[in-house]
Amino acid sequence: MAKLIDGKAISQAVKEETALQVAALKEKGVQVTLAVIQVGADPASCVYVRNKKKACEAVGIRSLSYELPEETSEDELLALIDELNGREDVHGILVQLPLPKHMNEERVVVHVSPYKDVDCFHPENVGALCIGKPRFVSCTPAGIVELLKRSDIQIDGKECVVVGRSNIVGKPAAQLLLAENGTVTTAHSHTSDLKEVCKRADILVVAVGKEKMITREYVKEGATVIDVGMHRSPSNKLSGDVDFEDVLPVAGAITPVPGGVGPMTIAMLMKNCLHAATLWYERQEGNRL
Ligand code: NDP
Repeated sequence: MAKLIDGKAISQAVKEETALQVAALKEKGVQVTLAVIQVGADPASCVYVRNKKKACEAVGIRSLSYELPEETSEDELLALIDELNGREDVHGILVQLPLPKHMNEERVVVHVSPYKDVDCFHPENVGALCIGKPRFVSCTPAGIVELLKRSDIQIDGKECVVVGRSNIVGKPAAQLLLAENGTVTTAHSHTSDLKEVCKRADILVVAVGKEKMITREYVKEGATVIDVGMHRSPSNKLSGDVDFEDVLPVAGAITPVPGGVGPMTIAMLMKNCLHAATLWYERQEGNRL
């Protein structure tokens, strides 16, 4: 029976550590501040934004909220981002995705200053991550690595398979596992014999967006299974991309949904906000932490 990887407890520990550092920075006169922009009222986005604001409050980060109507033009959104980019008292900017269809997400994402890009979506930050010199680390992939490390699961030298190659999860997760010296395979919708590929994995990260797709036939006995997927049923029950009940007896360790990767994503966002404020503080002449 697999050991449960407790994302709730681990994310709580990360938030508590972050809160201490946020308080220490406050004593130096810096109030860590995150600006959260939401355009429209997509129900899932509303839940995510609410949770992010709650987390900010819990760790002592000030959050500024910009809730713009669905019909906001792209130019108006870019003007707001310009204003926030220029503000000394704002350290992180988060534009909640997806944006309404009339906006070009790529254009919006590159408009956020790379120094305030706490989601790590800006190509400059993605590039820095790829060459092993990260300024920020994408929140969900950073959460995955943190879960593994704090659960004493060795990455170095292990076969890691990431199912999914999105810019937000799959690709940066693969990069981070590689940086930890894993032997990494990225699988996607064109991968032939996905089961065979997944069965090679000592660490299987699933970010495929298909509810309960990964059953025990994809999992090697004793493997660690990290389920990034998030699906909400009409009765508000959450499930993942992994068929948890089916895989539980086969895996060595597994993240549940809810209570696995989800809470880590927000905890790592808090860490990135702290990091953005720390970098800002250090850029001021003569400051070194
Ligand atoms: P995307 O839809 O952007 O990417 C899905 C990836 O899965 C693609 O690369 C796609 O391949 C691949 N894929 C789809 N079908 C198959 C298949 N049958 N076999 C193999 N590969 C397949 O999703 P995201 O990466 O944004 O999200 C993945 C999941 O994680 C979702 O459930 C999402 O809700 C969840 N999520 C959870 C977060 C959290 O904090 N817990 C944060 C972000 C996402 P191809 O590229 O070839 O199309």
